[in-house]
Parts: sequence; structure tokens; C-alpha cells
Amino acid sequence: MSKNRFSFDLSRFTLCAAKAWLLGIVALTATVAHGQTQTDPDTALRMLNAQQQQFEKGVIQVADNVFTAVGFHGANTSMIVGTDGVIIIDTLFGPSSAADAAEAFRQYSDKPVKAIIYTHSHGDHIGGASSFVGNAKPDIYATESFGSAEGVNKAVDPIKQKRNVRQFGRKLSPAESTNRGVAPAGTKDGDRGEGFLPPTVTVPNSGLKTTIAGIDIEFHISPGETDDAMFIWLPSEKVLFAGDNFYNSFPNLYAIRGTAYRDVLNWSESVGKMAALNPHVVVPGHTMPIAGEAAATAALQDYSDAIRSVYDQTVRGINAGKGPDQLAHEVELPEHLQDKPYLIQFYGTVPHAVRAIYCGLLGWYDGNPTTLNPLEPKIKAKKMAQLAGGTAELTAQMESALEKQDYQWALELSDHVKWLDDADRKLARKTKIAALRGLAAREYNAPNRNYYLSYANELESGQLSNVWF
Ligand SMILES: [Zn+2]
Repeated sequence: MSKNRFSFDLSRFTLCAAKAWLLGIVALTATVAHGQTQTDPDTALRMLNAQQQQFEKGVIQVADNVFTAVGFHGANTSMIVGTDGVIIIDTLFGPSSAADAAEAFRQYSDKPVKAIIYTHSHGDHIGGASSFVGNAKPDIYATESFGSAEGVNKAVDPIKQKRNVRQFGRKLSPAESTNRGVAPAGTKDGDRGEGFLPPTVTVPNSGLKTTIAGIDIEFHISPGETDDAMFIWLPSEKVLFAGDNFYNSFPNLYAIRGTAYRDVLNWSESVGKMAALNPHVVVPGHTMPIAGEAAATAALQDYSDAIRSVYDQTVRGINAGKGPDQLAHEVELPEHLQDKPYLIQFYGTVPHAVRAIYCGLLGWYDGNPTTLNPLEPKIKAKKMAQLAGGTAELTAQMESALEKQDYQWALELSDHVKWLDDADRKLARKTKIAALRGLAAREYNAPNRNYYLSYANELESGQLSNVWF
């Protein structure tokens, strides 16, 4: 079989690149305190650069008749070659990136597209369908709840869009950009969604087993990152397409761009069901496939266990009367899972997951009557200044924190100083910008890093003059 310049065997990747990548990551993380994602700047950058290999552009042959295109946009798209046609699983973000992948797939098969499958309704998986189709009229499969991923209430879309830009670092300069944790930075997004084709076949909540183009294929409903998710199983090839419930990073159980509660328990159960199938290859929604029955099964089982452990620890802490601030600093992955390359917190983080679980189960109130009706920020800032011995002293403490590279404390103090009428608010803003950049440099979690840098730039440009917080 001829291979284009982007192609390589998964077996070769698994033996060489993945092993080197894994060893590199494990060596790097040995110096990192677990449960948080700050380390020294050189290590943070090296880790993010190493993660880059997870979305290096190429078509990977994951089985005799199955191909996955990685790095053509943020997510993956796959092609299964059948007797008289092909099946496409997920279609990238827009028609141009999809056309690029479709052309790469044609090196392996030019059979017509018989079916398209959307694993879930996030835009980076559905927006390029038209580029795969040509003149064919394929069936398009999705779950009954397809479209519920981002919720139906658009009331807070304006702020969600701003936060999305920050989380993904969409406006960062090339020098500031690293990646998005499970996707490269700098994807072409101008045609987002323009190639979307609506589903024509609804997969029932009980799932579906069928044959398409001579390929036996199973659809399993699997809520997790989204409620409308499913995974796809090829029982003969033993290839499993996980959608976004599995990728090579600790899962984004909460997205800082702002999303409704993602049912963490369902997510763990869905990935556990995948592990129970003992796949020979797992193809994630983002990042490189994992090949080999032992490796693929272990990765899925570990992933399910990690999510479950964070959930159980949080629930135990909640019932012991602890609040989210405390639990976010206490809960961590079990030791035997901390160095697994697919659980490093490049995308999701444990502390954010803990807060999301707390809020998802109990809402905003932490049960402490002190927080039932806390002081208004401006009043609290005045009292903090009094406590420090005056506005000048509070400001000096803020500057001293920055100087000592105690960045989080510098941020918290700057948020008090900015409320004070007799304070140097410009200095508070400057301090906040510097502290954000200090945190960003030490951050290997991509969304955190991107958010810190984006917000610093917005503050510096004056865009946030009236609402910065
Ligand atoms: Zn995705």
C-alpha cells in the first residue's frame, strides 16, 4: 500500500516515538508537584513541546482497513474502508481542514462515502462533513440528544465566546503560543461549521449494531464530555473510537471557557465500558491512537479509574463538610496513576474537576454560613487595607508579593487594591499583568497558560478597563 509523506505505521509510532515521548514525559514530571500544574518555566515549556507530538500531522493506519488523520485540525477524523464504500468518523471543524484530510484519505481509498458518524456535537467534530461527501448521499449518524453539547440557552454566549478565545489562546502571538493541550495552536477556523450536514439517522438510547459497506459496526451511547456522546466499536477489527471521552491528557472534566456540569460519574462509566471490550486499538477524539490490546485496555481502565477516584475523593470530602477551596488543594490522582502519560494535566486539571463536581452536586453554596452573604468586594478591600495598615501598605504588600514571585498572592492583593479609591489602580493593573505572565510561564496546563496570557494581554491593551476583575 502506497503511503504519502505524512503517513507512518502505528506500530512504528508505538514502538519508537510513543516510547520516547512517554519516557520523556515521565522523566519531566518527576520534578513536578502533583495535584497542580505549576513547575519551573523550562520544564513547563519542555512538557508542552513534548505534548506537541500528540498532534503531529499525519495519517495513521490503525488496522488493515482503518485510517486516522491526526493534526489536520484540532480533532481527529477516521476512515474505515469497507467493500463498496467507506465510513467517516468525525469531520473536523470546517470544509478546508476536512478537504485536506479527505485528500490524504484518498491515498488509501477512493470508494464513495457510505456513512458519516458524529461521535458528539462539538464543532471541531462536525463542521467539515461536506468535504468528505462529494456527490454521495451518505447516511449521517448521531445520538438522539445530538446538539445538546453546548446547551440550548444562549443567554451567556457573549462571555463564553470571550472565555473560549482565552482558553484556546486564539489571539496569542506566535511567541506566546504553545498548544491547546490536546490540539495544536493556530488551527484555521475561519470556515467553522460551514460544512456541517445534519444527521439523518438517529442512534437510539439503547445503541445500535449494524453493517455498513460490509463492516460490522456498533454504536454505544456514552455520555461524558457531552451528554450526546457515543463511542464506536468495530468488533472484527477490535478498533474503538472513543470520541472526546478519551484522549492523551487528564480529561477536561470542566472547561474554563464555561460549560454546564459534565456528568463525571457517567464519564467514568462510559470509559469503563470501553475498557471492558479489550480493544486492540483505541482512537481518541484528539491526539494519537494507542495500539496493542494491553496498552489500549490499560489506558482506558486507568482513565476510568482516575475520573472515578477524583469523584469519590470529592464526594467523601463534601460529606466530611469540606468546601471546594479546601478540596481543590487536597484531592489528587492515586499514586499509581500520576505518571501515566495519558493522565498528565495538559488539558483538564484535578482541582478544576473537584470544583466542578462540588458545584454540579451541590450548587455554589459551600455550606459554611460565613459564605451565605459575604462582604461586597469593595467593602472587603477597604477592610483588607485597614488590616494591612492602610492603602499604601496593602499596595506595598502587593508589590512585594510580585517581587518574591508569589504570583497568586500578588493577583489576590491586586484584586483588593483595584477597588480602593485612594489606590494607584494603574499599579494594581500592572502588577496583575506581571503576575499573570509569571504564572503562565510556569504552567504546563495549556488552558490555564493560554487564559493567563490572553487575559494579561487584554488588560494591557485596555480592553478590560471597566470590567477587569
Ligand atoms: Zn473535540
